[in-house]
Amino acid sequence: MVYVLAKWWWRFKSEKSGLWRRIVWAIHQKARTWNDVPVKNAMSGPWRNIYNISQPLLEANIDLKGAITSVVGNGQNTYFWLDTWTELGPFYLLFPDLFKMEVHKDCLVAERWTTSSAGPAFNWAWVVTDLGQVAEDQLQQMLVVLNNRSRSMAPDSWIWQHEANGSFSVASIKRVLGSVGRTRTDKVFEWNSWVPKKIGIVAWRAEMERLPTKCALARRNVAVPDRWCVLCGEYEETCDHLFVSCHYSQSIWQNLASWCRLQPIIAFGMNDLLTLHASSLGPRKRKTIQAIVLVAFWSIWKVRNEVVFRQAVPNFTRTLDEIKSMAYLWIKNRSKAVSLTWEDWSRFNLTSM
Ligand SMILES: [Zn+2]
Repeated sequence: MVYVLAKWWWRFKSEKSGLWRRIVWAIHQKARTWNDVPVKNAMSGPWRNIYNISQPLLEANIDLKGAITSVVGNGQNTYFWLDTWTELGPFYLLFPDLFKMEVHKDCLVAERWTTSSAGPAFNWAWVVTDLGQVAEDQLQQMLVVLNNRSRSMAPDSWIWQHEANGSFSVASIKRVLGSVGRTRTDKVFEWNSWVPKKIGIVAWRAEMERLPTKCALARRNVAVPDRWCVLCGEYEETCDHLFVSCHYSQSIWQNLASWCRLQPIIAFGMNDLLTLHASSLGPRKRKTIQAIVLVAFWSIWKVRNEVVFRQAVPNFTRTLDEIKSMAYLWIKNRSKAVSLTWEDWSRFNLTSM
């Protein structure tokens, strides 16, 4: 099957020093447009065939670009701008005006971001001395993202998002393709183009009870140490509890409601949250609220995983801040609301959208 070619995407991303890769890069990289996986459409041949499998896989819910991500350690095997190494996606798409100012578009994370005893330090190389307002704003947004992160001295490790252990295999793709075909439901999930697919997918899986919560794992006879919700410690962890009735999530929803100037949220099930936007007036407001709800699902699941797998301490304020700032970055970039400022967003003033 054609999807065995996907392993070359994985190798292209994770094996930066290979000779074959440098050849592909040299031949296919266009001088003017940048892409994390380059292809010149005018050039037929094996590399274009490999590149072209991304589209049918995307239609089957496998986003090769988004699913191959780096956990940055020493930053020596990850491109700063071109690779995906934060939840937000690659910086060249997120901060396009700032990327224009970069001298070395394919620089490594290690070349731009160093650590010192005083904290993170950055070595920028801009083509101009004065970035100008738009690029300067994007730099500030990027620093917010970077200042919340830490890195180690270990080599970068590349992660395949569709497997819990992160390792890529063709069998894994087969499995994902198989499960997509099997899960027909009569409900139609409403996607939102202002947030990345992998964000919406959390809510989509949650609604179908297809997230690996402790109770879901126990049902499948997977050994779990206990079934308690890690955010409250009081109830068993099901999707319904985690996203709807847990007091941690309840506080998130009520705070989001007052920020968005909605009525207090009364939700009995996930569907009440996923249809929350329907009663708002105006298509842009509706779409914005729906996007925020999807980001909140993703963020709650993320904090849950950080507690389960990395012994993090859940911090309600941080989760709420994360939802607001992530939603801002995605919505601003993906809805092309260029004049939406952070100040307006913080007050949920959408008039400039
Ligand atoms: Zn709970």
